[in-house]
Amino acid sequence: MRRRIAAGNWKMNGMVADLAIVGEISAAAKAASCEVVLCLPATLIRAANNLVALPLGGQDCAAQEKGAFTGDISAPMLRDAGAGFVILGHSERRALHGESDAIVAAKVQAAWAAGLCAILCIGETEAQYRAGETLDVLAAQIAGSLPEGANARNTVIAYEPVWAIGTGLTPTVDEIARTHAFIRARLPDAGLSILYGGSVSPANAAQIFALADVDGGLVGGASLKSDSFIPIIHELEASA
Ligand code: PEP
Repeated sequence: MRRRIAAGNWKMNGMVADLAIVGEISAAAKAASCEVVLCLPATLIRAANNLVALPLGGQDCAAQEKGAFTGDISAPMLRDAGAGFVILGHSERRALHGESDAIVAAKVQAAWAAGLCAILCIGETEAQYRAGETLDVLAAQIAGSLPEGANARNTVIAYEPVWAIGTGLTPTVDEIARTHAFIRARLPDAGLSILYGGSVSPANAAQIFALADVDGGLVGGASLKSDSFIPIIHELEASA
């Protein structure tokens, strides 16, 4: 049985005042039959961990364990703050911070060494999608950013078409089904979960989660409010 996970990515959003939302999501997650994870800004992880039993994650970590890397946060630091997960290779990190597959792979290894589960993001840009290169891009990202040793406990894959993130656009369900099946065939362990990410909402979650190779969602904007994230959690439960 693969893990079914609803993961929220708060990106660079959230203040201490927003911990009430974490409390509401945690209350809903307690009764849920799927895993619910919130990947918060690093500044909120400790406070959220003191408040709720919900699994928490960071959104990036350094490849190094410690040292002269001003502004960076290491995987052991995230773990120390109460995180069990970390998003790595998000398209915003790849595009805005120049993270190559090799850098992402090194970060995944750092996450594993600290006992974190890596949520490894892969996905094609709009230009690559239009050029029909989606599957080649995904194959290259899997080969380059997923180190040997991935298993269902230490890694979750998130397929996130870059052009679907924050745009309200999504691939068709047939395209998502085909892409997830392609990814699954390239993973080293049949037990690895593959989440879909990119404009998941309460309105489209049921259709997407019903697909055989979709094991949940990585949700950005809709995870910032309990009244949009909790219905998505319920759709994932209902799709089991
Ligand atoms: C994301 O940033 O990982 C994401 C999927 O964002 P959104 O749900 O807002 O498209």
